[in-house]
Amino acid sequence: MNGPSTATCKQEPGAIVPVVDFQRCEGKGDCLRVCPENVFEIRRIDDADFQSLGFMHKAKLYFHGMQVAYTPNADACRACGLCVKACPEHAITLARPQ
Ligand code: SF4
Repeated sequence: MNGPSTATCKQEPGAIVPVVDFQRCEGKGDCLRVCPENVFEIRRIDDADFQSLGFMHKAKLYFHGMQVAYTPNADACRACGLCVKACPEHAITLARPQ
């Protein structure tokens, strides 16, 4: 079964949140541009998150300027799926908050 992935979903805010895979994210910012709820922020990856990556992913991120997408406003997510579709690296999935 497919998860929520279309712009027609009308979830309560925060019932579903975007999860960014830092092994894929290159901080290109398409998510930030398309999100109608201002969920995303593009900034330098935290040291702990960087250290959790393997060597190849560290090298890739270093090459791309150490920028990734964080979700400081995840509680506002409406599960519209626009960020999932917009991400050129397929780095975003939608999930129930942990
Ligand atoms: S699913 Fe929609 S509301 Fe939620 S973070 Fe992505 S673009 Fe924003």
